[in-house]
Amino acid sequence: MRRITILGATGSIGQSTLDLIRRDPGAYRVVALTGGRNIARLAEDARALGAELAVTCEPELLGDLREALAGSGVEAAAGPQALIEAARRPADWIMSAIVGAAGLAPGLAALSHGTTLALANKESLVAAGPLMLAEAARHGATILPVDSEHSAVFQALAGEDRASVERVIITASGGALRDWPLERLHHASVADASAHPNWDMGQRITIDSASMFNKALEVIETKEFFGLAPERIEVLIHPESLVHALVGHADGALMAHLGAPDMRHAIGYALHWPQRRHLPVARLDLARIGQLTFAAPDEQRFPALRLAREVMQAGGLTGAAFNAAKEQALDLFIAGALRFTDMAAIVDETLTEMSADAGLTNAAITLENVARIDQTARRTAARAAERISGHATGRLRAEG
Ligand code: NAD
Ligand code: MG
Repeated sequence: MRRITILGATGSIGQSTLDLIRRDPGAYRVVALTGGRNIARLAEDARALGAELAVTCEPELLGDLREALAGSGVEAAAGPQALIEAARRPADWIMSAIVGAAGLAPGLAALSHGTTLALANKESLVAAGPLMLAEAARHGATILPVDSEHSAVFQALAGEDRASVERVIITASGGALRDWPLERLHHASVADASAHPNWDMGQRITIDSASMFNKALEVIETKEFFGLAPERIEVLIHPESLVHALVGHADGALMAHLGAPDMRHAIGYALHWPQRRHLPVARLDLARIGQLTFAAPDEQRFPALRLAREVMQAGGLTGAAFNAAKEQALDLFIAGALRFTDMAAIVDETLTEMSADAGLTNAAITLENVARIDQTARRTAARAAERISGHATGRLRAEG
């Protein structure tokens, strides 16, 4: 039996992972499940799967979790340190599916015992890619991609000579607001940005898809994961989300990966790798689909991709600043304090302001330095937000 742990078990990726596990319960022993405020979900899954341990990241919810697990024999724990301890418990396969920079420390802890880490948490590669890879190498751990595009690239590369790779193309649906003109984008609401045309995902990544910040993070994730030069990474708008990525070789061949937009494919691939097993995902009927469409991304309306290239160019801890500023701007947008297009302006200003700090590109990529840069970027972004949203309010007043 394989011992498995799911970090972020109550979220969209976590629940899809549990769906696969439940289909073959005899094959797995669940070590730990972690979640946040949804104690009922966490406790129910931990009980049903007979987990050894359930952890909520919210310290004040420990009492609720204990109560919900009473008599089950499942251990309860809470808080950031308990998450790290859950990740350190020996397991053969660990899913990293916490959302945001909060996934970095537990992901690193998981790598410290040489496990296989299925990585959905792209933010940890964006903020600290070299640290994640070094930690994996040091402990003989394996990191497998779970982001659909990166799983697709990984699959398209299997058996190929990496030296022949000319370029990697990751696709983007374009998100909920793909065809909106700039004037309308300014006023897109949280509900507008939360309606993804193809993928069913957590709210934060869905809004990041609408702003193209998700693709910006994924471009950096591609660079870190596959060790590619930034100029070899391209983004292609593909509204149908059926081609997930393409790998271009020196002889001009393009190897495409196609599949239904269902995260259980990429999760299942990482779960069974290096084998392929039957997965409960829809099979594509290309004759019925008829045609696939592609277009270049519009960086005028969606500046996030340009920012990603600046981040890769600058290097060092710039990815940590970029991700944290984006998380801060997203929090403010969700809270109704910002216009949709202000998010990119805030991240842009934060990077400009922080680029004056030599520590951003010179300091070593350690957990401590990443945390310090993360905090500075959140504060800088909050100040930029006050300026930018203040201007916007003034402008609206002036416009009457
Ligand atoms: P989600 O919001 O649905 O779930 C997030 C999980 O993280 C929940 O279990 C939540 O309780 C937990 N969590 C939230 N804040 C936390 C914190 N501060 N500390 C510890 N745990 C915390 O998110 P999701 O859509 O499942 O995405 C998870 C990760 O996978 C993200 O990094 C996302 O970018 C990536 N990803 C998701 C999809 C998708 O289809 N949903 C696709 C590709 C990549
Ligand atoms: Mg993706």
